[in-house]
Amino acid sequence: MSARTIAVTGTSRGIGAEIAVELAKRGLLVGCLSRGGGYPEGHLELSPEVKARLLPIQCDVTDEAMLAAAFKSLSVQTGGVDGLVNNAGIHREVKALSMSAAEFEEVMRTNATAVLMACREVHPYLHARGRGFIINIGSFFDKLGVKGSIAYSASKAAVGAITRGLAAEWGRNGISVVMLAPGYIETDINRAYLADPVTGKFVKSRTFTGRAGQVNEVARFVAALLVEDIS
Ligand code: NDP
Repeated sequence: MSARTIAVTGTSRGIGAEIAVELAKRGLLVGCLSRGGGYPEGHLELSPEVKARLLPIQCDVTDEAMLAAAFKSLSVQTGGVDGLVNNAGIHREVKALSMSAAEFEEVMRTNATAVLMACREVHPYLHARGRGFIINIGSFFDKLGVKGSIAYSASKAAVGAITRGLAAEWGRNGISVVMLAPGYIETDINRAYLADPVTGKFVKSRTFTGRAGQVNEVARFVAALLVEDIS
């Protein structure tokens, strides 16, 4: 059987970069969708075999045409697409009284609308296989009230709703759709926030492990789901 192909969005850095590399290390072909169109950063140590399984494709997830072209390109390069990890996301810290509709919609567009559009655009490829697995990266902020994070929390709650709706619509056709909602994971999105001593103390006291999570912990969890092929 030929290697399975998974598309991952937002692979330039952070959690997405780590997911892409972890999947490639485990033998999967990985479409690395990023705005820059390059390889995941911070992995100079990769062997030529692993690097050859990383297939960079330029794609801004807010652009439906780019999403469609990215999945087409990946399918042409590898012979099909078996799964998708919707990882790309942004956070903008703005409090309600100063938030414009444009600021709210930018976050919703990137974190929620793009997830639905990517699922819609990848569906024909999964359908052609007769099965598929989609992992949408949500967040524990989806059910929290956090000052300055209203748009982000709303967008991640929408990811939950989108995931449940797609699971209901596609589950009987062999396409599984799940959401993975991490807690604090140390990346660019929150590095300054986590470095603050007050926040650091809060995270230490309120997490089961006493620390923020690391990107490789999320990546290994995602890889375990995809390699196990439970769809
Ligand atoms: P980072 O800021 O480190 O990385 C975000 C990634 O998303 C970058 O690769 C960025 O690309 C990409 N991205 C943003 N907008 C777009 C776009 N329009 N098109 C394509 N790519 C885009 O964040 P994390 O790695 O921490 O976050 C990854 C996901 O995990 C997000 O969905 C986030 O909400 C979620 N998450 C993170 C948590 C955390 O504590 N870190 C906790 C829970 C969930 P570029 O380099 O081009 O900007």
